[in-house]
Amino acid sequence: MPAMDHPRLPPDYHTHNHLCKHADGEPLDYARAAMDVGVLEIAATDHCPTDDRYGADHRMSLEQFEAYLDSVERARSASPIPVLLGIEADYYRGCERFLSGWIERHSFDLVLGSVHFLNFWGHPSEPRGLSDQRDPNEIWELYFQRVAELADTRLYDVVAHLDLPKRFIPLPDESRLREIALPALDRIAAAGMAIEINTAGLRHAPREAYPTSALLRWAREREIGLTFGSDAHQPARVGDGFETALRLAREAGYTTSRHMRQRAHVNVPLPQPAPNRPPDAVPSLNLW
Ligand code: ZN
Ligand code: FE
Ligand code: FE
Ligand code: ZN
Repeated sequence: MPAMDHPRLPPDYHTHNHLCKHADGEPLDYARAAMDVGVLEIAATDHCPTDDRYGADHRMSLEQFEAYLDSVERARSASPIPVLLGIEADYYRGCERFLSGWIERHSFDLVLGSVHFLNFWGHPSEPRGLSDQRDPNEIWELYFQRVAELADTRLYDVVAHLDLPKRFIPLPDESRLREIALPALDRIAAAGMAIEINTAGLRHAPREAYPTSALLRWAREREIGLTFGSDAHQPARVGDGFETALRLAREAGYTTSRHMRQRAHVNVPLPQPAPNRPPDAVPSLNLW
């Protein structure tokens, strides 16, 4: 089954490792797993350290960042496929104070921007979950406002899991979603950023990739770039659901995926569907 001769899955630009305290393995393990499934390039994008204890239980510490760089370097020298240096950085109000200078100082290939928490009371040290017993409408509005602000910072290259709250609360109907999400998509487009098809949704409760197909279509209409990410927290999850993701991308009108180096990008034609390749197995439910 290894597809070494006929590599045809797009790069996996969303992978984690043990430093975030809720994932296994190191970048080299993810690179090896990628080769086994025909993913020809990966980015290590572990959760970004912060200097204010924001979500400290779910990320490397600042002191561990050097170890992260070393582990990516090890993967690069031992793996025949490219391993990009990336990071998944949370957006929250006030994050620029630390993040802008810190991102500048390191030679990242790509920076994922994520809204994982909504903090209704503005205390960065008290991130609130996306469910939080609020009116779902209020959560969706606030969430996409934050995503728009994320784009406005110009700190990030790709918005990760664009409709993440659907893991916890139902998506609004399409006309309402359109109303809430289009301003954010316009600002992502204005920032020249990409979004990702994140296949972790297939193994999360919604059983649907992030983002939902309507969002993908509206992103395509705005010529927003596209990357693919498994959000793997175990090496065996690399490239998970990418056949499904490719189908979703094509159905939304996408013909290219975005490849990155040193924060610059090119859009590369999507691989053609392989007639003899089995469809993705249905993954089991997974906490991460
Ligand atoms: Zn994680
Ligand atoms: Fe995330
Ligand atoms: Fe992630
Ligand atoms: Zn993630």
